[in-house]
Amino acid sequence: MAVLVLADHDLGTLSPATARVVNAIAGLGAVDVLVLGEGVDQVVTQAAALNGIAKVIVAQDVGFNSQSAEALVPVLVGLASCYSHIVTSAGTVGRDVFPRLAAKLDIQPITDVVAVRGANRFDRPIYAGNAIETVTSNQVRQVLTIRASAFKPVASGGSASVEPLTHGTVTQVAQLVAAHRTQSDVPDLATAQIVVGGGIAVGSSEGFTLIEQLARRLNAAVGATRAAVDAGYAPNDWQVGQTGKIIAPDLYIAIGISGALQHLAGIQGAKKIVAINTDAEAPLVKLADVALIGDLFTTIPALIAELDRVGVTL
Ligand code: FAD
Repeated sequence: MAVLVLADHDLGTLSPATARVVNAIAGLGAVDVLVLGEGVDQVVTQAAALNGIAKVIVAQDVGFNSQSAEALVPVLVGLASCYSHIVTSAGTVGRDVFPRLAAKLDIQPITDVVAVRGANRFDRPIYAGNAIETVTSNQVRQVLTIRASAFKPVASGGSASVEPLTHGTVTQVAQLVAAHRTQSDVPDLATAQIVVGGGIAVGSSEGFTLIEQLARRLNAAVGATRAAVDAGYAPNDWQVGQTGKIIAPDLYIAIGISGALQHLAGIQGAKKIVAINTDAEAPLVKLADVALIGDLFTTIPALIAELDRVGVTL
């Protein structure tokens, strides 16, 4: 049987998460990508270019633009019988749409998958990421949300065919009134290869400009602890951890962060961790691959100056 991936997009651009979801399920069968929305031509082109895609199915209707469960689920239910797996990333849309989809199909969804061990065997975190369980499903069909940051993206270069889908009237129980998107010239936190994170010790929103400066120098995304977000030093969408974003960069530089369990729950996928802290006993310092014991207000400017001197470009 084939696999259906619901594309993650903002109407204009395909999210990098979709390329990671495609990689996660590669090997389970032919992969079709479903794009729903009005004015999504560029998204369709980007999806069709992903390696390993058999075809892109597209339904254009302004009613899909809210990406709400009420609008999207009937289309997915209509296609379900052709697929053994229906999959998307564990982002905002996936968390809204897939539980409803699973209920409509009378299937137990498997959420936050971090490893695919076979057609019906998957790893997922439990207890706020403190343990990983392997689940085996004997259901006729799998409904999965994937933690995209746990997988590498497939490359682009393919040229899948595009097939328009005829659909019924789009249900609009809820109406999208407005969408406020964060504009940023730094990489997306959830998929960045390098993340620079700041804690409460950064001391102010002005202090975070130092963290941003280092991040720009390294072409990295910026993250923050909940303490820093709650203090108003950093915006909500920078929060990393149990109640924030889950990240899996190649390198995480944690600055003035103690390493509370709830923060660690969000960084378990990080390949290398560098901790910069005044306290050599801080949990994150002990966990880190490299620790720099010192005051962030002197070490970060020195680090940036050294990167400039050596001429590192990333
Ligand atoms: P602190 O723990 O206060 O650590 C500050 C660190 O900075 C210390 O290690 C200190 O030595 C160091 N420091 C001080 N001055 C300097 C300096 N000048 N230079 C360098 N280092 C310095 N937290 C999250 O991050 N993400 C979550 O998603 C999250 N979810 C939560 C959910 C629940 C239900 C609860 C109860 C808590 C949650 N928290 C979360 C909060 C978490 O428990 C911690 O309070 C928080 O992570 C601590 O943030 P911090 O490391 O910035 O602050």
